[in-house]
Amino acid sequence: MLANRRVKIVATIGPATSSYENLENAIRSGMNVARLNFSHGTHQDHLEVIRNIRSLSQKLLAPVTILQDLQGPKIRVGNLKEGSVYLKEGAEVILSPSIQLGEGNEIPTDFKELPEVVQKGDRILLDDGLLELRVKSISGERVHAEVIYGGELKNRKGMNLPGIPLPVECLTEKDLKDLEFGLLQKVDYVALSFVRRGADIRKLRSLIEERNPATKIVAKIEMLEALDNLNEIVSLSDGVMVARGDLAVETGQAQLPQVQKRIIGLANHLKKPVITATQMLDSMVENPRPTRAEITDVANAVLDGSDALMLSAESASGKYPFKCIQTMHEISIEVEKEGRYFYDIDFEGEGGVPETVAASACLSAKRLNASTIICLTSTGKTATLISSFRPKARIIAATSKVEVLNRLELAWGIQTFGIQSYKTSDEAMEQIATLLLKYGLAKKGDKVVLTLGLPVLAGAKTNTVRIYELSETGSSLGNCSSVIPLRCQTYADPV
Ligand code: PEP
Repeated sequence: MLANRRVKIVATIGPATSSYENLENAIRSGMNVARLNFSHGTHQDHLEVIRNIRSLSQKLLAPVTILQDLQGPKIRVGNLKEGSVYLKEGAEVILSPSIQLGEGNEIPTDFKELPEVVQKGDRILLDDGLLELRVKSISGERVHAEVIYGGELKNRKGMNLPGIPLPVECLTEKDLKDLEFGLLQKVDYVALSFVRRGADIRKLRSLIEERNPATKIVAKIEMLEALDNLNEIVSLSDGVMVARGDLAVETGQAQLPQVQKRIIGLANHLKKPVITATQMLDSMVENPRPTRAEITDVANAVLDGSDALMLSAESASGKYPFKCIQTMHEISIEVEKEGRYFYDIDFEGEGGVPETVAASACLSAKRLNASTIICLTSTGKTATLISSFRPKARIIAATSKVEVLNRLELAWGIQTFGIQSYKTSDEAMEQIATLLLKYGLAKKGDKVVLTLGLPVLAGAKTNTVRIYELSETGSSLGNCSSVIPLRCQTYADPV
């Protein structure tokens, strides 16, 4: 059931998913968040995808978060004449920014400073560490290296220089142009790649504040330096991504599982949504079924406390993009049946009014065995805080603001209702109860917990918890749409 999955699914959009029909299939299959990877594609390509998603959200009554992923100072190899080249172990290759098009053993790179920053003996990793080179010598702009682990190298694959400090800004010229475009299109989140310290987030925040303050920030954790400054980075961000591709290359592969748990644990503690990303169902790029190890990786990422799980090449360019979304959905639903590991956690702790109201709502729902926590929200903040307590009760965030509905799709367990503006809490409750009963999400007699700001007409911030019994209200069914929102439907339409 789409409605009942708590963990969210992020799908990277690419040639396999970017058409109107395929975006519709992706949303119907269970995509909550569309990741637009600005390492690829033109602004025109991305614009079309954004417009199609926004229009499909209205058609299907399914809010979707749009996550703009900035490339950051990612170092890459350039274009190769044949599209790819096979690197044989023991062979010598030449890497250089002065090579225009790669051929034979000559490989171009967009990293101009490469010959200056590497030394004899340094490791150069390609394609998320699948291929490894060792520097033998440097002559002028040409870096000579031996292939240690070979294989096929494709156009524009990433390059990592583990342990070498890079003389690069977190936001490149390209990122600044892409950001301007994204903010103009009012993307819901911007993901910042290769974050190293809190100052990187502050800089991005100041640029966002100038143009579209509603857009939120996801910090991609993929550098060793970011792990040193993790607390500051997560505190300053609105969400976090465990970007395992580059991260594993930086930390060393054996450290990755513990580092993943550390990042997710801290994000949970600081009440920030966290996405676990990269190679979750990698073999499904080619095959219709995942490996046992991938099934278990997806399940463990749910158990670790992820708000969302991400598909990369699987949905962007793989052969089975919709099957991947459905597979992630099925595994997550199964794990969530066994809730004792991760529901109703951490009501203790400190915080201001919003944290206290959110904790009180979750505690009330637990004690009263309430079926639903309803959050009347104008920014989405209280709903996200409620989500961070992982309540067993269904979380409904209700607002009349479309951008808030879209943005909340990223956070664990939040289902959204678009409602009309209201003058009193009873008026809002009447609309919501009607929808809950109509869509079969709750039944008469259920206790529900409501959070809101009183007085309503003064636009007060959330300051109140109220308890209702559904028999008290929601009796008139005349007031709501007869179309069932996709997120409330039983999943019955495999693509
Ligand atoms: C990653 O490195 O895991 C990641 C998500 O970043 P990108 O795909 O942009 O390299």
